[in-house]
Amino acid sequence: MTISPAAQRILQEVFGYTAFRGKQQAIIEHVATGGDALVLMPTGGGKSLCYQLPALLRPGVAIVISPLIALMQDQVEALTQLGVQAEFLNSSLDANAARAVSSRLLQGELKLLYVAPERLLTNSFLNLLERLQAQHGLALFAIDEAHCVSQWGHDFRPEYRKLTVLHQRFPSVPRIALTATADAPTRAEIVERLALENAQQFIASFDRPNICYRVAIKRNPRQQLQTFLETEHAHDAGIIYCLSRKKVEETAAWLQTRGWDALPYHAGLDATTRHQHQRRFLREEGIIMVATVAFGMGIDKPNVRFVAHLDLPKSMESYYQETGRGGRDGLPATAWMVYGLGDVVSLRQMMDAGDAPEERKLVERQKLDALLGFCESTTCRHQTILRYFGEAHPGDCGQCDNCLNPVETWDATEAARMALSCVYRCGQRFGTGHLIDVLLGKQTAQVEKFQHQRLSTYGIGKALTAQQWSSVYRQLVATGVLQVQMEAFGRLSLTEAARPILRGEQRVFLRHDAQPAKPVTSRPER
Ligand code: ADP
Ligand code: ZN
Repeated sequence: MTISPAAQRILQEVFGYTAFRGKQQAIIEHVATGGDALVLMPTGGGKSLCYQLPALLRPGVAIVISPLIALMQDQVEALTQLGVQAEFLNSSLDANAARAVSSRLLQGELKLLYVAPERLLTNSFLNLLERLQAQHGLALFAIDEAHCVSQWGHDFRPEYRKLTVLHQRFPSVPRIALTATADAPTRAEIVERLALENAQQFIASFDRPNICYRVAIKRNPRQQLQTFLETEHAHDAGIIYCLSRKKVEETAAWLQTRGWDALPYHAGLDATTRHQHQRRFLREEGIIMVATVAFGMGIDKPNVRFVAHLDLPKSMESYYQETGRGGRDGLPATAWMVYGLGDVVSLRQMMDAGDAPEERKLVERQKLDALLGFCESTTCRHQTILRYFGEAHPGDCGQCDNCLNPVETWDATEAARMALSCVYRCGQRFGTGHLIDVLLGKQTAQVEKFQHQRLSTYGIGKALTAQQWSSVYRQLVATGVLQVQMEAFGRLSLTEAARPILRGEQRVFLRHDAQPAKPVTSRPER
């Protein structure tokens, strides 16, 4: 059965698009013909269409499970404007409004219903679904933000794990799970937790070729920001992220005094102000939103021309998500960031002060390290980002800062060999903290316990400080020479790429920031 002509027609006539993007067409055909699917696509990739269009192709109503109330509202509003009968059911509706939605459902008037997971899982709702199925049919189940099943993620939602009930009670209804979280462990967890073993997986590239990434050391951040805005984005809409509410307010006020159309946004502002600022950002031209991470989720503005970070985000995932809000229309956009070691200190303090369990904190620290490694890396930014998400990229995009202006580096071949052989000698079972203690010849309880003072790498790294060794390790991780096991106490192990370096067949150049005070001349160790 071919559904392409009908899909094409709806794409143009209902959604007003001329062509499918990426894998949208294949996904839509698969789901519309009754297949289960797992869709991994970066934010802005066009996931919604992957279930909205099949919903219109199949008889009955499509049930969309979403954890975000604000997002449901936006989507329903947008669909209604396109003339599609859609509603949502969540805690923001009072009893009367909810009843009105249920009655529209039962009359078979709706094509899409957005529902929060806890509502879906109630007995009364599941019974309602059975009646619907008998009377009008169920077009499909779409499970949005499917990574919420993962307890390692930041958005863990226990109810998501109970969604297998859909498969058990409605085995004939196709399911499509969607997420922008790309890493393989999360993907495996989604498949297992949602019983999607037989689903076809559609994995889009996470590359955002139209985003130009730039990272600089923080010197005079306001001046740096001002220059960036003036020279590159004088009339553009953009987002500036800051770590704290106070800094958001101060930065927005400062920009205003300089004549910029800047508005603050953070969770401490009252709802009316937040809503008003968001509306202005979406509807007016050239507004700069100065915000904490509270801003952005579900914001769909295609022509954001820049995303600036005045403080480090807490992980590569956050950095990717936040910068990903730029250039959704496919036109060039800049991701600009300044960072300093002060940022790292305050982020670590925040993490340490949090009430997360110890192992969770450890994962958070490693995620921050991975981001730092990215900042410090000397190779193509696109390549480093994609490597983190397990995807290959040829590198040399020709437009990121590292491709355009090769950074000043020092020949770190000897230091890299020391760092790598220390990993190897210690049995590939330790994190950076201990490895650096060994390189510096420290006498710690751990060193005693494992008798590491006997290793040939013990104390050979005294030419570098602990901070410099940290940077060496981070850069070796960022370039894929070492890999870190987040869930195993940050153990470092060698990859294939370490071999030629250890054998002395390949030289290593690292960013100047990590240059040793005196040259490293000790005999290399194999
Ligand atoms: P995601 O949910 O993956 O973050 P969305 O579904 O919100 O992405 O889509 C992102 C943007 O891309 C929206 O502005 C949407 O209207 C637009 N879009 C999606 N599919 C297409 C298409 N085939 N052609 C043009 N624009 C599209
Ligand atoms: Zn590049």
